[in-house]
Amino acid sequence: MKVTDHIKKAKGKTLFSFEIIPPVKGKSIQELYNNIDPLMEFKPPFIDVTTSREEYVYIDRDGLLDKKLTRMRPGTLGICASIKHKYDVDTVPHVLCGGFTKEETEYLLVDCHYLGIDNVMALRGDAMKEEKYFAPTRGGHQYASELVKQIQDINCGNYLHEVIETDNCANFCIGVAGYPEKHMEAPSLKSDLKRLKEKVDLGADYVVTQMFFDNQKFFAFVKAAREMGINIPIIPGIKPIAVKRHLQLLPQVFRVDIPQDLVDAVDACKTNKEVRKVGVEWCIQQSKELKEAGVPVLHYYSMGKSDNIKAVAKEVF
Ligand code: FAD
Repeated sequence: MKVTDHIKKAKGKTLFSFEIIPPVKGKSIQELYNNIDPLMEFKPPFIDVTTSREEYVYIDRDGLLDKKLTRMRPGTLGICASIKHKYDVDTVPHVLCGGFTKEETEYLLVDCHYLGIDNVMALRGDAMKEEKYFAPTRGGHQYASELVKQIQDINCGNYLHEVIETDNCANFCIGVAGYPEKHMEAPSLKSDLKRLKEKVDLGADYVVTQMFFDNQKFFAFVKAAREMGINIPIIPGIKPIAVKRHLQLLPQVFRVDIPQDLVDAVDACKTNKEVRKVGVEWCIQQSKELKEAGVPVLHYYSMGKSDNIKAVAKEVF
């Protein structure tokens, strides 16, 4: 079922959902299940599974380093299929521009359709670790908007090299990313919102935001989006701070501000166990206020661990 249909069916009730990251290749999927199991009592209608960019690894061959391109956390679609099968829940694979040709994307979408996956999250992806800026993959897309268009084309039977008349057209519900504190490369929040509007005009069905720690930024973002004519559901993505290092890491990687009260509370902690508690408490307050404001879904970035998300969900759902 489409994410937007889950939202309609909930009739104004805030839903719970979360995002998981595939394990490093070679590791068991069981660890993932162990983190999903405790969250199922909150009845997520859908679970997102991220896709990782490819990266270079260096293999020592008798003293000479061999540079190889590899994906350390493959398996997004396989994980989506296995979770859907095991838990009878909808899954949302993240589909990236970076690292994929348009043909590979088409094949991936055909697989999604065969697997009964109704939702995809269309994203550009970040630059590779070695690159300063995002560079489109040869034969791939430069912006998420182009990917949205490709997915919508497939919904209409327009494949890359032919138009297929069929009564078995895909009908993907398309999620896209939004940034309450603007995307790091955008010159201003307004120009970033215009780009978001382009994705919506091309067929995006809902937005999931980058994490934020100050709800006022989310409320201002939604207001500005609505004023720009973006009328699709906007789902807040949030995450509890879990370790002291997050104070530097999260602003650096995700370009988000951390409110001073939260910084002070984390700074005052002596152990990461205390930090985890502070992070959970902050996230509970954020969640309660967002729920009170009537957000359609609260979407949690689990980053592979569920104990703190469960602690939050227990207080909110
Ligand atoms: P876009 O919408 O293409 O925007 C990228 C930048 O280009 C923005 O600054 C935008 O303003 C600008 N722009 C857009 N169109 C144009 C244009 N025509 N001309 C000029 N500028 C333009 N990354 C992963 O690698 N894997 C994941 O699974 C993943 N999941 C995510 C989930 C969520 C909810 C979010 C918020 C992010 C996720 N990301 C993931 C990170 C995402 O890939 C990065 O933030 C990436 O840098 C931008 O992706 P986007 O889809 O927002 O790109």
